[in-house]
Formats: sequence, C-alpha cells, structure tokens
Amino acid sequence: MLKTCRNKSAKYLLNKLYRNVSTWSTPLATAFNSPPYKKINFTRNESGLFRLSELRSFEGFYLLRDNVANKTEDLISEAISTNRKRKMVEIFDELSDSLCKVADLAEFIRIAHPKNKYCQAAEDACITISRIVESLNTHKPLYTALRNVVDNGDILPTSDVDKHVSKLFLFDFEQSGIHLEEGERQKVVRLNEYILQLGQKFMAGAVQPSIIQRTDVPSSVRNYFPAEGDSVLVSGLYTNSSSAEARETAYRLFLRPSEQQNQLLTDLLMCRHELARTCGFETYAHRALNASTVEHPKMVQEFLNELSQGLSPRANADFRIMEKMKRQDSGINTARVAAWDPPYFTSLMEKKSLKANTSEFLPYFSLGGCMEGLDNIMRSLYGISLKNTEMEPGESWNNDIYKISVVHETEGLLGYIYCDFFERNGKPNQDCHFTIQGGKDLPDGNYQLPIVVVMLNLSQPHWTGPVLLSPSRVDNLFHEMGHAMHSMLARTKYQHVTGTRCSTDFAEVPSVLMEYFANDPRVLRTFARHFQTQEPISEDMLRRLCASKKLFSASETQLQVFYSVLDQVYHSGPVSHNRSTTETLIEVQKEYYGLPYVENTAWQLRFSHLVGYGAKYYSYLISKTIASWIWQNYFENNPFNRESGEKYRREILAHGGGVPSRQLVANFLKRDMTPQILAQSLLTEIDTNNEIVQDISNSVLNAEM
Ligand SMILES: [Zn+2]
Repeated sequence: MLKTCRNKSAKYLLNKLYRNVSTWSTPLATAFNSPPYKKINFTRNESGLFRLSELRSFEGFYLLRDNVANKTEDLISEAISTNRKRKMVEIFDELSDSLCKVADLAEFIRIAHPKNKYCQAAEDACITISRIVESLNTHKPLYTALRNVVDNGDILPTSDVDKHVSKLFLFDFEQSGIHLEEGERQKVVRLNEYILQLGQKFMAGAVQPSIIQRTDVPSSVRNYFPAEGDSVLVSGLYTNSSSAEARETAYRLFLRPSEQQNQLLTDLLMCRHELARTCGFETYAHRALNASTVEHPKMVQEFLNELSQGLSPRANADFRIMEKMKRQDSGINTARVAAWDPPYFTSLMEKKSLKANTSEFLPYFSLGGCMEGLDNIMRSLYGISLKNTEMEPGESWNNDIYKISVVHETEGLLGYIYCDFFERNGKPNQDCHFTIQGGKDLPDGNYQLPIVVVMLNLSQPHWTGPVLLSPSRVDNLFHEMGHAMHSMLARTKYQHVTGTRCSTDFAEVPSVLMEYFANDPRVLRTFARHFQTQEPISEDMLRRLCASKKLFSASETQLQVFYSVLDQVYHSGPVSHNRSTTETLIEVQKEYYGLPYVENTAWQLRFSHLVGYGAKYYSYLISKTIASWIWQNYFENNPFNRESGEKYRREILAHGGGVPSRQLVANFLKRDMTPQILAQSLLTEIDTNNEIVQDISNSVLNAEM
C-alpha cells in the first residue's frame, strides 16, 4: 500500500514539473541553447578575471603572488606568537586559504587560458606558491606550534570540527617529514623526489606504443596496425575492433612485458614502502588511507573480498552471454570469451539494446534542456535555482563561458559556477571540476562564497541550433555538476575541508549519485524533449536508454575489484626480490577475475593509475557503493523528494570533509558502514537491474538466431 501511495505522489509531482517546463520558457534553457550573452564594453573598465581587480591584466598575477608572500609572513608570526588571539586552526585555514586562492586560480588559468602571456604569468605564480609551500614545510617553529595544539589542546576552546581539521593540517605537514630528525627528514624529501620522477617515467612508458617486428604479427591482421619499415606499431588494445583476431593480437602485443617498465614499477613500489616506513606507517597503503572513509586497508580488503564473492556467479552469467554473442559473431561453436572480449561485447550489446545509433537520441538532449533538467532536480530537492548570470567585461577567460548563480529560495546566493563547456585549441581534453575559491567562515561573520569551474569538452557550437548531447555526455554533465553542487552546498567553517576537499574515497559520492538521477526515467521525462518539435522522448526510447546503461555491470564491477585488489596488494608490504609484479598480477587475477591470465602479458605495466591513485584505486568503487546505498535508501522511491534532499544536504553535503566521512555516512544511513553492508548494496543494485538486462540480452540473442 505504502509503495503505491508513494508512487502516486511521485507521479503527481512529475506531472506538475512537466507542465512547468513544457517549452523552453525557462531563461536557463534558453540561455544555454544560445550563445553566451556578451556585454559590450563601452567603458573599457574591465572587471578582471573572476572579478578580481588585480587580474585586469596578466601582470596582476605578479601582484597576487607578492601579496600572498607578505600575508604568509604575517600569518606565520601570528601562529607562533605567544599572545595569539585566534584558534590555531583558524590561522592555519586562513594561511591555506590565501595560498589556495592564488594557487588554484593560477593552476586553472595556466591550463585553460587561451592567451600565452596569461598562462606564463599563472605558471610563474604556481612556481612561487610551490616555493612558499616548500619553505613552510621546513618551518619548525610553525610545525611545533600546531603539533602542540593537536597534542595538548588549544589555549582557546575548540570544537570537534576544529580538532579534526587541525589533525588534517598536521598530517599534511608531516607528509614532508618535518616531524623526523634531520637525516630522516632529508631521506623523506629524497624519496618524495624519486617517487615523483619514477611515477612520471612509468606514466610516460605506459602509453608508449609497442614496436613489434613485422613478422611477429599474424599476416591476417597486419593491416590493422600502422607499419614503419620492418616494424609494426601497436598503440592500444583495439577494444572496438569487430575482428576477434585483431583484438587478440593487439592485447598480446600491446601488453607484452617490458623490462624497463617493470623496473620502474618495482622501484616505485619500493620507494613508497620505504617512505611509509620512514614516516612510521606499517605500509604505504596504511599511509595513503589515513583520514579516508574506509580508514584502514583491512576494511578495503574485506569490502573487496565480500564484493568479489557476490560478484563471481553474476559475472560468470555475463560472460556466458558474451560467449553466446561471440559464437554467433564468429560462427565458431567452440569460441570462448577471453580477456580482450568484454569491452567489445559490452559496447555491442549497448548498441543493439538501443536499437539505434546514439545519434537518434541527440535531438532530445539539447544543452539548454539538460541544464533545465538539472535545475528541476535542484529546485525539487533543495529549493535551489540555477540562474544564468551576465558577466562583467573581462571577467571570463574566453568568450564562450557561461556563469551560473546558485540561489536558494530563502538563504539567497550560495555561490557561482562558471561553465567552460566547449572544446578549443590547447584546452585539456578532460571533463573536470576546479575549485577556484573554497567556502569558509570569514572573521567578519560573512561566508566566503564558493566559486568553481565545470569544464567539459562539447563540440564547438555553430549556433544555427542548440548544442546536442549524446547520452554519455549527459551523464558526464550531471556527474561534473554533482561535484560543483558539493562545493555550492557545503557550509563548512573551514575551506580546507569544503565540498570536494574531502577524502579521495568520498569525493565521488555526490557526483556518482547525480548519475543515478541522470539514468532515471522519471527525471529524464522532465526535460528530454526534441529541440525542434518539443515532443517528449518516447517511452520506448526512454526504456532502451536507461536499460542500455545497466548491461554487464557485474563483469565490469568485477574488473574494477580485480584492479583495486592489485593496487592494494602492490602497496601492502615490502617488494619481494624473488617475485615479479607479473607473478603478483597472475595470482590476483586468478582469485578475483573470471577470465584467465594471458601468457606472456603484463597488463599492470600499462596501469598508469597506480601512480596517481597509489593504494586508493578502490576509491571509485567505494564512492559508487555509497552513492548506490544513498540512492536506494533516499531517492529511488521518489527522486524529487524534498525531505530526502534537505536531509542529504544538511547531513552530508554541508559538512564537506569537516567530519570524518565514515561517521557522516553512518549517521545519514543510520547504520554502521560495514564491508558486508557496502558490498550488499551494490549487489542489490545489480540484481534489481538483472531482469531488464536478461530481457534485453534474450531479445538481442534471439533476434540473431
Ligand atoms: Zn568525478
């Protein structure tokens, strides 16, 4: 009974929303379906980038960095002074804020500004800030002052948040070994330097093509690969190739063991272990997981084991379907699925289940329509609207940027999101979120508003019509806006822990949760309409679209578990000289992945995430799991529920990293976060989707019989 009632109320809400948005009547949709409004500059009195008057010209970066250098000196004096009037953590947060505001801004401008002189000035500012930070890292009196407060309490009364954030600052401080005696400290500095260099070399090597003797490539597939004289270049896994033999050849040749890569990886793992031991940790994983959601490597391992057990039969079912597809595809009745097959058959099944090219879906997802969809969710869940906002001359770095003000119905302006959505020369080809200014309490009682940039790489609009998004682009937009809203809705006392500045394994929770909204038919119905006719997307298309995103999720998750375990094992002890990284891979693959290891390959030597994530590759899986748990408990019944939205905002988003995330999640979901509960929530999701997936795969397979 209860369930029917809830569905009804959801439907009512939906109808209401739907009526409200049946044309591009909202200013937000209209704005994003036309070029950004450009104010004509009569006065030439430019406001400066991000409305910083210093940045009316690129030289302003020199002023900013000099100012921050002076301010740093003042704050250090205040922190070590004997008659300090503020809490230590407040001084540290202001110090961090003044450095971050210049460093984050400069880092963004360095990679995003189309004009070289801006990039250069920004890069100089980045270098100056790194030098300041380096000198802070060896400032003993400053360290001692903070250490003293963490160990013995502050001279002023402090809250739990104050204590937690002080500890985080102290941990960051100790990353460079300041707490060690001089010889050990220098060792830490040296090790950090080696690790940086080894990591860079390993990452560069990981993307190098394999150069193979022509005669070593089967003649039947030689023409798939570019040749240079007597050599053939294999530069990737060819996962999209419809030729099974080409995929197999690419897999075997691209993943051929490289002695040099193996040495780099072994040295990297050795240095990391040594670094962790020198700093007093049992292993590198223990060090990396400090202040994380899972808190301890043991919990990661238990979670991965639990998940792995549950996934095994479900992933095998996926592989059986792939096997049938492969047999139909090749006409060979004995064909088996191998390590090079899953990405190909997953994408083939997706295409077949959509029964169309993704271009059939494009007209229903204009950029303006999608922004309206996001606005609908924000209004329903939080009483917040996204308002397209005119910029001052000189405020933005390119002429195709939009600015959104995030406004709450009673609390007013919460922050700004700059939308840098279109590709251009020199812009990094990656969707991401940048914090330009973190939110924090200011000494005068006001709140420093968060400012972020969301960067996407949509094709340049021609403005004969709106920009149209493919289904996966819609997911990315929702994902990145999820990060942005984490920053907007955080109301932390300190910027050091605001929004996405939380632990790595929690940072993807709000963004992945937004993908659940983007994949929900009830949400899509509120905004997916043909950009010319305004006709809503058909129920059949909607069903196919949502189902296509759920295919083979067990085998895909199993692969992620395998990678995560490998990353944990590599970082969980001293490197054994009798054991190669490949032997470890073989063992882990045997236990955690449903498809066998392929002789004479070394996949781990191409796994560049080992450098960036180092013992934290599991983060995405944990974030996904927590997001799934939150979705099932609070939004699956009704994705527009204001009460759930408010609760999620107050109990999760508002705190950023100010409260340990394990505690946040446990309070919010009213259950302790155990490995079993976590694994179960992901398995439940897979099982819920299974019926739809079975239907689709049966119809796809039968259609070809
Ligand atoms: Zn993300």
